[in-house]
Amino acid sequence: YQAGQYRDTWIEIDLEAIADNVKAVQALHDTDINVMAVVKADGYGHGATQVARAAIAAGAQWIGVALLEEAVALREAGIQVPILVLGRINPRDANVAQQYKISVTAFQKEWLAEAKTYLDTNTPLNVHMKCDTGMGRIGLTEEQTLLDMVKTILMEDAFHLEGIFTHLATADEWATDYLERQLKYFQTYVKLAKETAGPIPYVHYSNSAASLRYPGTDYNMIRFGISMYGLVPAVDTAADIPVSLLPAMSLHSRLVHVKKVAPSTSISYGATYQASEEEWIGTVPIGYGDGWLRANATNGGEVLVEGERCPIVGRICMDQMMVRLPKELPVGTKVTLIGQQKEEKITIEEVAQRLSTITYEIPCTLNNRIPRYYY
Ligand code: PLP
Repeated sequence: YQAGQYRDTWIEIDLEAIADNVKAVQALHDTDINVMAVVKADGYGHGATQVARAAIAAGAQWIGVALLEEAVALREAGIQVPILVLGRINPRDANVAQQYKISVTAFQKEWLAEAKTYLDTNTPLNVHMKCDTGMGRIGLTEEQTLLDMVKTILMEDAFHLEGIFTHLATADEWATDYLERQLKYFQTYVKLAKETAGPIPYVHYSNSAASLRYPGTDYNMIRFGISMYGLVPAVDTAADIPVSLLPAMSLHSRLVHVKKVAPSTSISYGATYQASEEEWIGTVPIGYGDGWLRANATNGGEVLVEGERCPIVGRICMDQMMVRLPKELPVGTKVTLIGQQKEEKITIEEVAQRLSTITYEIPCTLNNRIPRYYY
């Protein structure tokens, strides 16, 4: 059987929205910009292979992932465009990257020395040097390390210097001083590397926030993640996004039980909710076992039924939750947890704010117990 084959809870992924978002960011840039579609964590929960195919068809030239296994899975699914692993791979697996023509991220001299022993020299391993200019996560932080590594890469037939990049920590915020400082450091690294190596094919630092808010000229590739899925990087600076993004994911279910309860009837674990009058209560087959977290029942969490907002009542269980309905409705009535019904819309931004988190976490948290359907 397949995940979700028999259940009435599902996710819809609109691949046209993905394509439109890719085209929208491309339109903000010069025609020679390369778009790396970032599909790590199973395409931010949307399905890496399907998203990668849609993004490539829309014009993306590159794919970005976090793990070597994510890259290998895409190759095995037939994705042939260049793929960069943005995280550190184990040097002992460098031969796997080489074999699958997967580009890797490097920022440690020791890594190059060890990886080299696993490589053959027929087809060099493509390396992107990662500079830590203020993210504080991975990347080299000293000019001397950069120079030593560039020299090693140039000297060794096992390696090819394909790119240099950094990652921004605050591109989704209003203040720009930290971002400007990061870019200044990065420009210094790029200049130094080019002085030693000559032209470097790919220079990149922009994530969604930077590529949409500060389309620039000092790079030739953007790494486009969250906004390819139609989501803003930060709700706070949403007004500064110059294109209208189209959300790709929606989440739906169907009522499995509908009942009229008497005033003061309690609902769910802990009996924390009591009907204040006669109420119609519907049961929806989704819960925290699907990644629909219990906190969705707090901070005014709602769903859509027949185009109307209905509150989630009582605690969310592992596989089910209850909602208060405006009237009696048949079992099987569609419930939309994320998405649109008639004029009403519940966005991932709204759910993220309800859970006091960022948009990224919502689609990533909805797990594979919920089937994804593509259209
Ligand atoms: N580049 C790197 C190194 C990342 O880790 C990520 C994701 O967090 C991205 C690019 C894409 O960022 P965003 O999803 O904000 O566009």
